[in-house]
Amino acid sequence: MAVSFLLSPEQEQLKAAARGFAEEHLGDLAAAVRAEPDPLTRALLARPVFEKAVGQGFLKGLIPAPVGGAASSGVDAAIFIEEWAAKSPDFVISMAGPLIALAPVYEAGTPEQVARFVAPFLADSGAPVAAMAYSEPEGSANFHTPTGTRTTAVPDGDHYVINGRKAWASHLSGWDGDGPDLMTIVCRAPGGVSLLVAEREHLAGRIEVEEHYDLPGLRGCLTSRVRLHDVRVPRANLLGAEGQGVALTRNAFFPSGASIGIFAVAAMREAFDIAYRFATTETRGGPVPIIEHQAVSDVLADAKGRIEAVRLLAWRALDAVMAQHPSAPELALHAKVVGSETGVDVVNDLVKLVGVTAYDANFPIVGHLHEALAYPVIEGSNIGVRRRQLQDLFRTPGWDPLAASGMA
Ligand SMILES: Cc1cc2nc3c(=O)[nH]c(=O)nc-3n(C[C@H](O)[C@H](O)[C@H](O)COP(=O)(O)OP(=O)(O)OC[C@H]3O[C@@H](n4cnc5c(N)ncnc54)[C@H](O)[C@@H]3O)c2cc1C
Repeated sequence: MAVSFLLSPEQEQLKAAARGFAEEHLGDLAAAVRAEPDPLTRALLARPVFEKAVGQGFLKGLIPAPVGGAASSGVDAAIFIEEWAAKSPDFVISMAGPLIALAPVYEAGTPEQVARFVAPFLADSGAPVAAMAYSEPEGSANFHTPTGTRTTAVPDGDHYVINGRKAWASHLSGWDGDGPDLMTIVCRAPGGVSLLVAEREHLAGRIEVEEHYDLPGLRGCLTSRVRLHDVRVPRANLLGAEGQGVALTRNAFFPSGASIGIFAVAAMREAFDIAYRFATTETRGGPVPIIEHQAVSDVLADAKGRIEAVRLLAWRALDAVMAQHPSAPELALHAKVVGSETGVDVVNDLVKLVGVTAYDANFPIVGHLHEALAYPVIEGSNIGVRRRQLQDLFRTPGWDPLAASGMA
């Protein structure tokens, strides 16, 4: 079968619909978020837009078609994420909780668990949110080691009782402090690191918010540090078996890891647009627009090539993830690491192209650098988590350097 990188008519429609929604709602939201100093207040500004997005079926677009959603292709997901993240990456991250929190449900859940846990996210109204509660304030990169996961789940009859502190995941507190609609909790049960799903009825009144983080970029994300107090979850909410949590957690972050390449593309594309307009219209006192200087043009040329390369890598990675192809973990890791670090370099180069004008807070380019700086450290930091996963892959007996590309 021929491989084509042209968008199909359906994908062109998806791009137009996503772009239309972003232009109508996300630009204004991003401006309002920028102007609001309080982290909780500015996160809550997103709720009406969130409800509109749910009403138009976009949340279902994050849920795989075989379990009742509308997501069927990795490239579709990439198109949708890029269009929205170009205007408001924080909005997409807030909405994309089910992408990570439900991944282990799809992988290890019983049919009954899948149906029950997915149901809130197939709604046509409201603002359902999900959180993948993996990170802890004392560190998460070593969560698989005996001291790495401190949140405990103690069996008590038909329930587990969960206690501990969690951090960083969007919407750990939910919109109102009583928790998200669903929280997948990485915790230590008697059989080892395990995943338990808490529903809102288990969380209400059991979450103490210690702090809402004030982020330098992605400022609309509601990321917090919380304490879970005696959260009683039925044993029927254990995903897979006790001790399966390490593998399930690692796997859960592959789709979101691949998508980070696209978040980086969105930041680069916006920064490129600003720098390109500047270069073609500003003379800075000289006789010609600065794009006529070869050094300036070279920065644009190098940036554009790297944007195109990361976009293709991330499309490839998301395609493999959605198709559950064996190459998915490696490609997702490259999209995450290469994509996020290229994003920082490219946006920084474009800032340098603009020069001192870029350093005025009212000039829009540095905001994209703040976003880009997040991508190497979120969704598993590149040093502590993602390159360690690549190291594990490379150490696997029989690993073939050509396999991920299909060229073996
Ligand atoms: C907007 C946003 C959204 C987020 N969403 C979520 C989410 O949905 N769910 C969630 O659980 N978390 C989330 N996070 C947190 C994020 O996933 C982090 O990547 C995660 O907590 C791991 O951070 P870390 O690797 O820096 O870990 P840490 O354990 O804090 O490690 C810190 C650093 O120590 C070094 N290090 C530690 N151990 C090793 C090692 N073994 N080898 C080499 N170096 C090491 C590395 O340099 C590493 O970067 C989010 C964060 C933000 C800002």
